[in-house]
Amino acid sequence: MSEIVWQKRQFGHRARLELTPAQTLLIDAQAHAARATWNLLHDFWTMTPKCRRSLKAADAAIRQARKDVDWLAVLPAQAAQAVLKTYFQAWKNCWDGRAGEPDFKARFRTVMSVDIPQGRDLNIVRVHRRWGTVQIPKIGRVRFRWTKNLPVGKRANQENRITGARLVKEALGWHIAFRIQLLEPKPEPHEGPEVGIDCGVNIPLALSDENHHDHGRPARLPDGTSDRDKWLNPNEKAKLLRLEQRAAHRKSFRKPGQRTSNRLKRTYDQIAGLRATAKRRATDWQHQTTTEIARAYGVIVVEQLDIPNMVKSAKGTVEEPGKNVAQKSGLNRSISQEAWGRTMTMLTYKTSRHGGTLHKVPAPGTSLRCSACGFTTPGSRKDQATFVCKNPDCGWSGNADWNAARYILHLYRIGLVTIPAAGRAVVRRLHDVNPTIAR
Ligand SMILES: [Zn+2]
Repeated sequence: MSEIVWQKRQFGHRARLELTPAQTLLIDAQAHAARATWNLLHDFWTMTPKCRRSLKAADAAIRQARKDVDWLAVLPAQAAQAVLKTYFQAWKNCWDGRAGEPDFKARFRTVMSVDIPQGRDLNIVRVHRRWGTVQIPKIGRVRFRWTKNLPVGKRANQENRITGARLVKEALGWHIAFRIQLLEPKPEPHEGPEVGIDCGVNIPLALSDENHHDHGRPARLPDGTSDRDKWLNPNEKAKLLRLEQRAAHRKSFRKPGQRTSNRLKRTYDQIAGLRATAKRRATDWQHQTTTEIARAYGVIVVEQLDIPNMVKSAKGTVEEPGKNVAQKSGLNRSISQEAWGRTMTMLTYKTSRHGGTLHKVPAPGTSLRCSACGFTTPGSRKDQATFVCKNPDCGWSGNADWNAARYILHLYRIGLVTIPAAGRAVVRRLHDVNPTIAR
């Protein structure tokens, strides 16, 4: 018998809040104040000369604004501090090359949210088999659906507890996302097989053992553009199109500077509702698929994809516009929509929960290289779906996504993996191996 090793696990859990209309308005006001605080901070930061920028000065600017402007003060002080923290984290992400520069948050394009950084303020109580209550600063006690055993009351201690929460407004109303920390036994190492996974264009997830995970929805339409609403059925799609046309029509009557009419707002809400349905279905599919993969395989190898850069590079710059922008951005849209990043996040934590490991290999060339002989020629890929090797001694042909997945696994087997270092990935050979390609 081996001794049990314990490890900390941090994760989130989302629950819908039962709010009265008055409470909804109060949280709306808090979220607008949080957004305004961010914008104020961004304004302060970009307008202040570099030598006078500091965390202390930014903090002072926020405190002064909260004194001067009544409606900014509806946001609890803790939440305002959280905005400051997030803003500086956004700059840090930008300097480390993980994200673009922070920008102003626009009224209609921003997800409304309010942070509750201190878990002990929440005072969560389970009041019924299916209901719990939570204390929300400046709002009061609110009920939520109890669908997960949360570490509260007698179950809570230093290791097992809720460390904070965030209120997020979705199309279906305000939700609370708890940040949970638990101490759990470390899983036994997963003895399952190795697998390479390609984020395919035709198959959303192509596996090197020729299994694949498909959602029965085309990643691309025949004209080469991505079908951004593929998670909706034909009726829902038709409805979405109708709503979008209606919104465009109503918008055409709006004079500059005029407020958005209530009818237009209602149409926008209906569009957001359909989009939320599509997103929920996509996330659900991702959860099921990643769980299956994490259960079945011990070693999972994926490409190191740099999605923000891929999307950026297709557009090019003003001086040097990109070529084939429409086609490439079609591909980009389909990558973004497959939400590769979200899939990766899920795979990362699910593999570690099942005792497996996830490795990333450098992406360039995986789609153009033959997995049978290792020969690369531009144009090897006949079309998006089929790969035909141009090497006269080989001539292998097959599904392009499976080919890429097999090549990804091969890169791992010869020890070519990327290791995240200081926010950037560097390629490092793990061990010296004969680089000839195994058939
Ligand atoms: Zn070949």
